[in-house]
Amino acid sequence: MIPIAMPLLGETEADAARNAVLSGWVSQGPEVGRFETEFAAFVGADHACAVSNCTTALHLALLGVGVGPGDEVVTVSHSFIAGANAIRQCGAMPVFVDIEQSGFNIDPQAVAAALTPRTRAILCVHQIGMPCDMGALMTIANSFGLPVIEDAACGAGSEIRIDGAWQKIGRPIGDVVCFSFHPRKVITTGEGGMLTTNRADLDAGFRLRRQHGMSVSDTKRHASASVVFETYPVRGYNYRMTDIQAAIGRAQLQRLPEIVARRRELADRYHGAIESMPGLTPPVEPSWARSNWQSYCVSLARGVDQKKLMQRMLDRGVATRRGIMNVHLEGAYSGLDLTHALSRSEMARDRCILLPLYAQMTDEEQDKVLTVLQEAMSTLQTTPLRQKIKA
Ligand SMILES: *Cc1c(COP(=O)(O)O)cnc(C)c1O
Repeated sequence: MIPIAMPLLGETEADAARNAVLSGWVSQGPEVGRFETEFAAFVGADHACAVSNCTTALHLALLGVGVGPGDEVVTVSHSFIAGANAIRQCGAMPVFVDIEQSGFNIDPQAVAAALTPRTRAILCVHQIGMPCDMGALMTIANSFGLPVIEDAACGAGSEIRIDGAWQKIGRPIGDVVCFSFHPRKVITTGEGGMLTTNRADLDAGFRLRRQHGMSVSDTKRHASASVVFETYPVRGYNYRMTDIQAAIGRAQLQRLPEIVARRRELADRYHGAIESMPGLTPPVEPSWARSNWQSYCVSLARGVDQKKLMQRMLDRGVATRRGIMNVHLEGAYSGLDLTHALSRSEMARDRCILLPLYAQMTDEEQDKVLTVLQEAMSTLQTTPLRQKIKA
């Protein structure tokens, strides 16, 4: 069985967790501090704040830029539901806009059309690791004075070219960038998240709110030679990462360049093979983006039965997933007033499949995926699909 994804974990991570346990400090402590410093340096941000997962990171990011009850946040429906949930958690409403014509990222023109006097922030997503069009988004955001939060849950190790220079996703182009370290992402801490920003005021707010709104952290009190009484100036949460997770995260971060390099190699191989397969269109990488290929999303021509294709592949031992979910099609958001067209989002969910991709995948395994894909396609095609159809 070839799974859709697999984290790359080994002795290094096991040793890191063991050392953290044996250090006697297992909750948020020195390892979290080191992970933050190293992550900030890796992406090129002034500050990094570790939290329990990316959903809590998004919640803190939205609160940090001032999102509250009655506000609107413009975002995509074509994304994991956590983004919309974090907006609701603030008492605000998501305003869903469509994705671009080619690709799976937020359409900047649709964002511009969705702004109202109630818009408080833009939440864009570097979907499945592919950088979204930050240049166009920032032009719009800046002209309306709106903060931008980048959901880079899947984006660790991806790069974007801004003003002629390549930089890592995580060096903030907007105000805050949020990452996930769930096992389905490119590096993992089991559960975990990170916020990066260049704004010291925002970073200070994240640190306060992730720890019950407590004015002095445990590490500071522990290290202090004099008695310290903490205060609670704001209402906060327990969104802390543990030192065991941070220790694993530091080991994973060391491997990230190697993981991304292999993923890119595999994506190139998929691309080369799928380009010539009738009925299938490989994903597009803009000239200003370098994906980490957290997922490899293939578009199916009209007439290809998505579910049947996935079932045939599963029967032959290859796991796939359908395209990215649409939040507006889920029961949790059924009452929502939808003002903007979401047809491309719906098409991307229902006419795409994600193929297996993970760093330790061998060329032979990938060849099996391609063979199974090709054979499943040929048994499915009732109408001839000799012509390539652009997604
Ligand atoms: C995975 C994911 C999240 C949620 O991350 P968690 O760490 O599981 O909370 C949020 N947004 C996107 C786009 C994701 O893919």
